[in-house]
Amino acid sequence: MIIILFGAPGVGKGTQAAILANKLSIAHLSTGDAFRAAIKNQTEVGKLAKGYVDAGDLVPDEVVARIVDEAMNDASFANGAILDGFPRTQAQADALAGMLSARGLSVHRVVNIDVDDATIIERLLARGRADDTREIIENRLSVYRQETAPLLDYYTAQDNLVTIDGVGEVEQVNQRILSAIS
Ligand code: ADP
Repeated sequence: MIIILFGAPGVGKGTQAAILANKLSIAHLSTGDAFRAAIKNQTEVGKLAKGYVDAGDLVPDEVVARIVDEAMNDASFANGAILDGFPRTQAQADALAGMLSARGLSVHRVVNIDVDDATIIERLLARGRADDTREIIENRLSVYRQETAPLLDYYTAQDNLVTIDGVGEVEQVNQRILSAIS
C-alpha cells in the first residue's frame, strides 16, 4: 500500500507520516529527512542538495529521484510506504509512477492535508528548524503553490485524491487520515 501525504510545508505531513507508518507497520519515506541526513553526513547527494534546502528551493528532480530510488530498493518498501514530501513536481510524479510500476506497486491514496497559511506560518516559526525563518518559509510556500499544488489536479484526475482538514489535535487529524485511506 503506497500512500502519499500531500500538502504545503507545515501542514503536519512528517508528524502524521510517522504515526501512520507505525500504526500500519509500513515504511516512512521523507525526502526532507533524507536530504537533511545526507547533508549532515556530507554525502554526494547531500552536497548537491544543500544550497537548495537551505534556501527553501526544490532540489533538482534528478537528485530527488536518486534518493527515492535508493530508498525504494530497501526490502521494507515491498510492504508499502508512506511518502512524505514526494512527489513535489509533475516530473517527480511521473518518475514515481515509473518507479512504482517497475516494482509492481501503485499509489493507493493521495491524502491532501489542508491548513490555512496563517496557521502554517505560526507552526513553522514555533518549530524553528534552520530553514524555518519567515523569509525561507515564505519562499517554500510560494514554491509549493507554483510547483507542487498543480499536482492536486493530476491526482484528482486519477481519482486518487482525498482532502482532509489538518487543523486540530494530532490524533484527531490522524483519525481523519485513517478514515480517508480505508
Ligand atoms: P517542508 O515540507 O516543511 O518544506 P521538508 O522537510 O519536506 O520540509 O523539505 C525540506 C526541504 O528539502 C525542501 O524545502 C526542499 O529544499 C527539499 N526537498 C524535500 N523534498 C523534496 C522534493 N521532493 N523535491 C525537491 N526538493 C525537496
